[in-house]
Amino acid sequence: EMFGQLTSGLENAWNKLRGEEVLTKENIVEPMKDIRRALLEADVSLPVVRRFVQSVSEEAVGVGLIRGVKPDQQLVKIVRDELVKLMGGEVSELVFAKSSPTVILLAGLQGVGKTTVCAKLANYLKKQGKSCMLVAGDVYRPAAIEQLIILGEQVGVPVYTEGADVKPAEIARKGLVEAKKQNVDVLIVDTAGRLQIDKGMMDELKDVKKVLSPTEILLVVDAMTGQEAAALVTTFNVEIGITGAILTKLDGDSRGGAALSVKEVSGKPIKLVGRGERMDDLEPFYPDRMAGRILGMGDVLSFVEKAQEVMRQEDAEDLQKKIMSTTFDFNDFLKQTRAVARMGSMTRVLGMIPGMGKVTPVQIREAEKSLKIVEAMIEAMTPEEREKPELLAESSVRRKRIAQASGKTEQQVSQLVAQLFQMRVRMKNMMGAMEGESIPALSN
Ligand code: GDP
Repeated sequence: EMFGQLTSGLENAWNKLRGEEVLTKENIVEPMKDIRRALLEADVSLPVVRRFVQSVSEEAVGVGLIRGVKPDQQLVKIVRDELVKLMGGEVSELVFAKSSPTVILLAGLQGVGKTTVCAKLANYLKKQGKSCMLVAGDVYRPAAIEQLIILGEQVGVPVYTEGADVKPAEIARKGLVEAKKQNVDVLIVDTAGRLQIDKGMMDELKDVKKVLSPTEILLVVDAMTGQEAAALVTTFNVEIGITGAILTKLDGDSRGGAALSVKEVSGKPIKLVGRGERMDDLEPFYPDRMAGRILGMGDVLSFVEKAQEVMRQEDAEDLQKKIMSTTFDFNDFLKQTRAVARMGSMTRVLGMIPGMGKVTPVQIREAEKSLKIVEAMIEAMTPEEREKPELLAESSVRRKRIAQASGKTEQQVSQLVAQLFQMRVRMKNMMGAMEGESIPALSN
């Protein structure tokens, strides 16, 4: 089971919350210790663990109660969301150059699976309809050149080589010329790894980078790498400026540290992951799926999401009822305007207001703009005025005062007042109850 130890370590945290009613500053202390311990045991780097625990704690204490959701389930959801964020949120696609070929430079220590990744990546891109060429730039390990040629044949992609007696930058330069000549879409360049980071390797990579101006510089990282992953990624990023990472050997029993640390320490995303020795075993890195796998609680997560959705729905319905009534005042107006600006499930409420229909992004942007104006004016009202809009309809003195206090024009205030009454009437019309209220003419 991938990251199995991390999964069971985190379970301790949820278990400590069984029987609790809400998440509090006090009752999350012990679970947070479990989370911290589980992450450290998974070889996540310490500063990353600290920041993670910090944001989960803040989120947990600040989160409101969701009816029907237990605190332990809520914490699972919070940890999931933070894990997704930690790993970069969205999936990060490979970037392609505007003019061919796109050059992808692969870097990494020896034995991490770099040569294998070259061929896997070519295979992966070929399936997307892109033509590829490989460049054998690992001149220090003659077997690597041989290996690349064999793998290239296996996936049906040409391999450019100059043997082991030519400098990598020169091989890269010639390879690029050849790729242009053959009109290939993507040139994938293998480079020499060392057992450890050393200056020779970095200088060589810099030379190769200069010659190629690659679109992607991907650091290949063995998922089994523990604590060192953070330093490794940081060094490569500082020295040559990587655009992302590829995590290999996820099929092994790695603890998860590298997967969880890379983005946070380097700011660069994991773009692809390898999970096996076969040429098909390369796929995009999905932070949300990875987080889901780590927690192994798919059912709890979707349950909490649903409950949150229902709660938002009920809020909307409450407001909807209020809109329908004649007591709809400026407090409700403000709430509604805010909700509209926030959007989401309010789409339904708006859909019920005649003439508004479906909400477009433009309308949402407009709503956000007008929210600021509306907020300023309503905040300048007295509590009484907010509850009894009639007071404002009756008195231009009051409207003037509000205009002055909010820095808006008197006309804007009058419009706001008129808008509120129009809204009441429209609601009543909709309900087929026309009697009673009408739009009052504003007095002078
Ligand atoms: P390089 O020195 O970085 O070029 O590493 P290689 O590409 O030669 O790979 C080193 C070893 O790791 C080889 O035996 C590969 O078959 C193996 N390997 C590479 N990627 C993976 C992977 O995703 N999963 C597993 N299980 N083995 C892998």
